[in-house]
Amino acid sequence: MSAVVAMDGPAGAGKSTVARRVAQALGFTLLDTGALYRTVALAAVRRGIGFDDAVAVTALAEELVAREALVLEALPDAGMDVRLEGERVGDAIRTPAVSMGASTVSAIPGVRAALLDAQRTFAAHAGVVCEGRDIGTVVFPDATLKIFLTASTDERARRRHSELVAREGARAPTFEATRAEVEQRDAQDQSRAIAPLRKADDAVLVDTTGLDFDAVVARCLELARARNLPRDQAGIG
Ligand code: C5P
Repeated sequence: MSAVVAMDGPAGAGKSTVARRVAQALGFTLLDTGALYRTVALAAVRRGIGFDDAVAVTALAEELVAREALVLEALPDAGMDVRLEGERVGDAIRTPAVSMGASTVSAIPGVRAALLDAQRTFAAHAGVVCEGRDIGTVVFPDATLKIFLTASTDERARRRHSELVAREGARAPTFEATRAEVEQRDAQDQSRAIAPLRKADDAVLVDTTGLDFDAVVARCLELARARNLPRDQAGIG
């Protein structure tokens, strides 16, 4: 396995932006695993399949992977997008409805199994910063460095809300609705039977409440350096 930095944590902890900047700094590829679950949820919407129809959603995830209709795409500068049936769906998967749908479909064991190999294959050849919920516990239990990024519920809801306002303007949900969604998603992600959101025993906790972005990135890079990352060009180690 190549060098892997596993970054787990709840919704709105800042994982995506931090993971991207850390990947840039290390010369690693970013793997945003939430995008995979989001894309399965979007595909379910488009096919008229209910998020909690476990049999149909599992069959859908297996089919998308087998046909290579769900493809992760590494972009320059540690960016990442995902294609569904050839279409870039990076924006379409970020709506509140798809966020809740991703949380629901990700609790289905067959969906997680279908996406596991895709995640491991992506990390086979180059160093990756992989962000999600179960990266340090399930996907890459032997990751070189595991970070559990968190922040208070209020702070996470504030960040999520500003993102939605920046993207959707007046159509964005209220702060209260966003906070309720963050809480509901946390509860769902932490209580599910399979691969619940949990800090791995050997993960380093980074609480970002009150810290600015640069300070969080600096802390993560300091942890990476302590693990001797980045290593050689191929990131092998
Ligand atoms: O990280 P993001 O908000 O994009 O993730 C969307 C949803 O996908 C999460 O609420 C979580 O339920 C699910 N997820 C997961 N395992 C991962 C990444 C995301 O279950 N590794």
